Amino acid sequence: MGRPVQYNLKNEGGKAIQVVGAPEGHTGDGFFTTQLSNVVGLARKNSIWPLPFATSCCGIEFMATMGSHYDLARFGAERVGFSPRQCDLLMVMGTIAKKMGPVLRQVYLQMAEPRWVLSMGACASSGGIFDTYSVLQGIDQIIPVDVYIPGCPPRPEAVLDGFMKIQELVGKESIRRRNGPQYKQLMESYGIQ
Ligand code: SF4
Repeated sequence: MGRPVQYNLKNEGGKAIQVVGAPEGHTGDGFFTTQLSNVVGLARKNSIWPLPFATSCCGIEFMATMGSHYDLARFGAERVGFSPRQCDLLMVMGTIAKKMGPVLRQVYLQMAEPRWVLSMGACASSGGIFDTYSVLQGIDQIIPVDVYIPGCPPRPEAVLDGFMKIQELVGKESIRRRNGPQYKQLMESYGIQ
């Protein structure tokens, strides 16, 4: 039996589809004020464009996450792109061989700021079961990572959970963060100007 499809935006019988709420702020007669960071964060977190960097089995789980059953489109992220210049979330899934490391780093460098990185699965996060000379023991050796998803492979629910954690970070990020000394220090620690 298929899942019931809900189209109704009105709350009839408690089955309404949730719409995005307004950010925190002050409201009065005919006006609403909030911080610029809140508005920018709200827009960014609900319109993330992921770049799937899938090299092995975790990528198949991601395909399931994109399918109609789990439906990443519900989070405004169905526009998966394969040009780093158009994407703001690098999703690394799968075993990253050391030879692949410079390629992954180049893809990251080609992404415009602000950019975020999600490491999906044991292989991308730590090398996984491949404790060998040829496999990178975690992508955070070459690029900074914002959220790690554990598992081998993580289920689509875990991918959605990781994605929602990214949304949380994106929504709360100050628009000044990328120009701050801490962020510059982080980039310099990776040899990125
Ligand atoms: S974490 Fe497991 S499922 Fe994911 S790429 Fe590695 S071996 Fe495959």
